[in-house]
Amino acid sequence: MEKILIIDDSPLQAAQLQAILKGSYDITISQTAEDGLRRASTETFSLILLDVVMPGMDGFTLLKKLQEEIITQSIPVILITSLSDIEDEQYGLTLGAVDYITKPFSPLIVEARVNTHIKLYNYRKQVELQSRTDQLTGIANRRQHDHYSVVKWSEAARLQVPFSVCMFDIDHFKVFNDTFGHPAGDRAIAAVAKTASSYLQRTTDFMARYGGEEFVAFLMGDRSDQAFAHLKKIRQAIEDLHIPHNPSVSKWVTVSIGGVTVVPRSDSSYASYLKIADTMLYDAKKFGRNRVVWADEKAKQLLEK
Ligand code: GH3
Ligand code: MG
Ligand code: MG
Repeated sequence: MEKILIIDDSPLQAAQLQAILKGSYDITISQTAEDGLRRASTETFSLILLDVVMPGMDGFTLLKKLQEEIITQSIPVILITSLSDIEDEQYGLTLGAVDYITKPFSPLIVEARVNTHIKLYNYRKQVELQSRTDQLTGIANRRQHDHYSVVKWSEAARLQVPFSVCMFDIDHFKVFNDTFGHPAGDRAIAAVAKTASSYLQRTTDFMARYGGEEFVAFLMGDRSDQAFAHLKKIRQAIEDLHIPHNPSVSKWVTVSIGGVTVVPRSDSSYASYLKIADTMLYDAKKFGRNRVVWADEKAKQLLEK
């Protein structure tokens, strides 16, 4: 059931709204703006019904605060107003409320407005998710990578923790396609993505499909030797899928991986380290494929095999 937060200092009014909506939604009630703000930032709601006139922090002030916070700014807010004051409605809407309902409540109107905004919210969430997901593999796409890498790189710089970035590329994949056909190629790409991402499940891990048969991943907090060891495990797990390749080039489908670990400085850029990872990948190909080549903090190369 979708969760709705009602923020209203009047228990009677909150109970009326709850009675209208409780058949279709999971309702939480806050009697103060402060409590409402805390709940909205720590729990997951699909909609907030917010009373304008409250003692202490009023609805408008709370609405502004909700709009400022990244976690709460996308939750639709419907204002509850008793004042049939058109200026109040106007002000609320310019602050970013999606709609308003006036007291006394008409149950049918309340229900209809709530249903509409929940539907719109879900639709928007779905579109946002699709726009950052790669369709074939279900992992993040390049667009999401471009956005998220900047966020995470500056986080690592701020916290001064090691940041590892690596690139994967499937070996001899043109031959694979030519031998087994494009649909089999697609399945192999999806299987590689699934296996690799299953090893990158920490909240600080990230993996994206960067292009055709190429992936980018980053990890935070690991030293270079730890990241290198982890990526070797992933490389092995992909080989162990035992997806048959064209025997003239390889027994199984494998990947080459190049990576680098660094504690970001404020004057260093993510892009320059992605380039180093790409150079390490190039070396992995050159040294015979199906291997991991890593550059550590001192720019020393760690080689597999
Ligand atoms: P290397 O080991 O040096 O990486 O050789 P490679 O053949 O993998 O490299 P190359 O870049 O020459 O070829 C990549 C191939 O990946 C060519 C292209 O047809 C295939 N490919 C790229 N995207 C997709 C995709 O979405 N689906 C399928 N099936 N194949 C793809
Ligand atoms: Mg390639
Ligand atoms: Mg390739």
